[in-house]
Amino acid sequence: MANSVDEECDYLFKAVLIGDSAVGKSNLLSRFAKDEFYLDSKPTIGVEFAYRNIRVGDKLIKSQIWDTAGQERFRAITSSYYRGALGALLVYDITRRSTFENLRKWLKELREFGSPEMVIVLVGNKSDLSQSREVKLEDGQSLAQLEELSFMETSAKENLNVEEAFLQMITRIYELNCHKSL
Ligand code: GDP
Repeated sequence: MANSVDEECDYLFKAVLIGDSAVGKSNLLSRFAKDEFYLDSKPTIGVEFAYRNIRVGDKLIKSQIWDTAGQERFRAITSSYYRGALGALLVYDITRRSTFENLRKWLKELREFGSPEMVIVLVGNKSDLSQSREVKLEDGQSLAQLEELSFMETSAKENLNVEEAFLQMITRIYELNCHKSL
């Protein structure tokens, strides 16, 4: 690839958020993109995305991150949502076991519609609510190990590990797709 990429790293990629309704996807994204948190679920339905520029080493990378914005409630996520995505944050809620059980279904869908090299980071959100925990930290770790995913527990509310989860995904995408071609 041309050296101009090396200098400017004019690199744009798409990543998606996926997981059951109300696990905190929108809030993770607004934390990461705007550093905001919403107490109520946003009523908007339809795909939304946000951009953020990230510096990896001396390169500037633009990530376009898509949020389902409620479509999963109606099982209305289509293959176009995943098309071209190089990364995914697969999110569950540590206080709702069902959101963890449903990960298999989301993984199947990610692997069916996503690219085979997609970087998937498993995210157990709402770690601030440890008194209502229904999914042990070790359960998340074991699943991640089994499925060869990165894993992190986060709190969008308290802004814990949010930046780290996105950065881990973005750095890995960069290593796999951008770095090698420079
Ligand atoms: P989405 O449907 O997956 O996009 O979920 P939302 O981002 O809309 O969040 C659903 C609900 O969970 C909202 O009431 C949020 O305020 C709340 N929420 C999201 N993240 C956290 C978190 O880390 N901790 C706590 N305590 N609540 C959260």
